[in-house]
This record gives sequence, C-alpha cells and structure tokens, in this order.
Amino acid sequence: MENALNEKIIIITGASSGIGEAMARLYAKMGAKVVLGARNEEKLLLLTQIIRAEGGSATYIATDVTKEEDCKHLIAKAVKTFGGVDVMICNAGISMRASFDDVEMKVLHRVMDVNFWGTVYCAKYALPYLLASKGSLVGISSVAGLHGLPGRTGYSASKFAMTGLLETIRIENLKKGLHVMIACPGFTASNVRYSALTADGSVQGKTPREELKMRTAEEVARIVAGGIAKRKRLCLMEQEGRATHFLKKFAPSLLDRLFYWAMRREPNSPLE
Ligand code: NDP
Repeated sequence: MENALNEKIIIITGASSGIGEAMARLYAKMGAKVVLGARNEEKLLLLTQIIRAEGGSATYIATDVTKEEDCKHLIAKAVKTFGGVDVMICNAGISMRASFDDVEMKVLHRVMDVNFWGTVYCAKYALPYLLASKGSLVGISSVAGLHGLPGRTGYSASKFAMTGLLETIRIENLKKGLHVMIACPGFTASNVRYSALTADGSVQGKTPREELKMRTAEEVARIVAGGIAKRKRLCLMEQEGRATHFLKKFAPSLLDRLFYWAMRREPNSPLE
C-alpha cells in the first residue's frame, strides 16, 4: 500500500481539519504530492509547512467548494505545480442535526451546496486529468450515505446524491480506466459535529456523542489509502459500515429500527 501512493498527485478538499488533514499528512508521508483545499488558508499554510519540513511535497490554495471557480482553480493549482492529477478526493463536508419538520430550507441547501455541489465541481474539473492518468476519483461519503440517518435528512440526502453522481461517472467511464471509490466512514472523531448546523442554521458548537470512543481520522485515512491502492469501488471501514451494507440488502426494516434507536439515544435527540 505504501508504494501505491508514492509520487501520486493527490488533491484533497477539506484538508484543514479532521479526516482531510489526516489524509494529507499520511499520504505525504507515503510519498504523494498533496494539493490541499479548504477555506481556512492559515491552517492550510501551516499544514503545508509541516509536510514540507518533514520532507514531503505539498501545496495549497484557499478553496470554498461551493464556488465553482474555486474548484476550477484548485485543480489548476495541482496541474501547474505538479503536472496533473492522479487522485481527486472529494472530502470537504458539513453536517446538520434537526428533524425534518423543524429544519429550515436554507440548512438543507447549505449542506447540499458543500457536500454534493462541492463534489460535482471538483469531479467535473478533475475528470480530464484523471482520465489521462487512469487515476482515482474518491468521494468521502458516510454510513449515512448507505441508509437514511434520522435527524440528519440533509446530510444523508447529500451523501446519497454523491453516490448517484460518482456511480454514474464510474459507469460512463467504464472502458477508460477510471477508478471511482465511495468511502463510508462511521462516527470518526473530528470537528464535524461541532460545525454541524442546527434547525435554524446556527452552528451546533458541541458534540452529542463521545468523540474519544470513536475511530480516529488517522485510521480512516489509512483505510482510504488501502481502498485507493486496491482500486475498491466501496470502502467500508468498521462493523457499523459492514453491518449497514449487509442489513440494507437483507433486513432493511430491522436496519430502520436500529438506526432509529441508535439516534434516539443521543442527548437532546431530534427524535425525542
Ligand atoms: P471536519 O469538520 O473536521 O472537517 C471538514 C472539512 O471540510 C474542513 O477541512 C473544512 O475546512 C472543510 N469544509 C467545510 N466547508 C467547506 C467549504 N465550503 N469549502 C471547502 N471546504 C469546506 O470533519 P471530518 O473530517 O469529519 O469530515 C470530512 C468528511 O468526512 C466529510 O465529508 C464528512 O461528511 C465525512 N464523514 C465524517 C464522519 C465523522 O464522524 N467525522 C463520518 C462519516 C463521514 P474549512 O472550514 O477550512 O473550509
């Protein structure tokens, strides 16, 4: 696996925090040339400096993935700096927490703008380079992209939409050597629950779950690297993911009930 990413030019959106940051650090250590995108330019600069100080290759550009032009510039930065794109990882994402009857429309629009449209723009502009390199287009989806997660309608919908987009791109390019992978982490310790939007669009600012008991972003980064190396189509990473994938096929009603009870138990659950 270590060799598979060596010298690869890898663009990572949402690289300023959590899983994106962990992928940037790990893949640079594996010899990849990483191109970092996110809105927080200070964090990207610092991360780029750390990677370079450790002997890695990295560059960055401030990117808001909801802006098509920014995504175009992110891909152009990779091409100008390193000469192409081998792997495009659409990782930037935000979450939300509210019941569907309470949530304001602007929250659903915002989550779709970041998670779905951000993926559309990056996939669109990276595709010609990925076809030239016979590279990998990767979407960081979620277990919530495998089955609807109550209290997270907009989030689940955005991840299902990513799957529809990426699967179709895979099939359209079946004969062209393109690898398309959908990765579905379960709960992973990161900033995602702190930055999640509540019903009125304000930032949640705290987590309803025990972050210390979760998988780490570094573990997710390592599993995604393995998926890219093996050119997997679906990258599931823990019991939750595998069980969800299995039960979805064979006992979907049971899965509904398990998801309901798992989310009902959260403090201040929107299902109360
Ligand atoms: P974090 O909140 O730690 O990181 C999210 C990243 O997305 C940040 O770097 C943030 O950077 C970036 N981002 C947010 N909005 C934008 C935007 N408009 N334009 C560009 N970048 C943006 O969360 P995670 O690391 O956990 O999330 C990474 C991905 O993993 C997401 O897609 C998430 O849905 C998915 N995931 C996470 C799980 C978890 O439990 N943590 C579980 C399953 C999936 P900045 O603010 O600087 O723009």
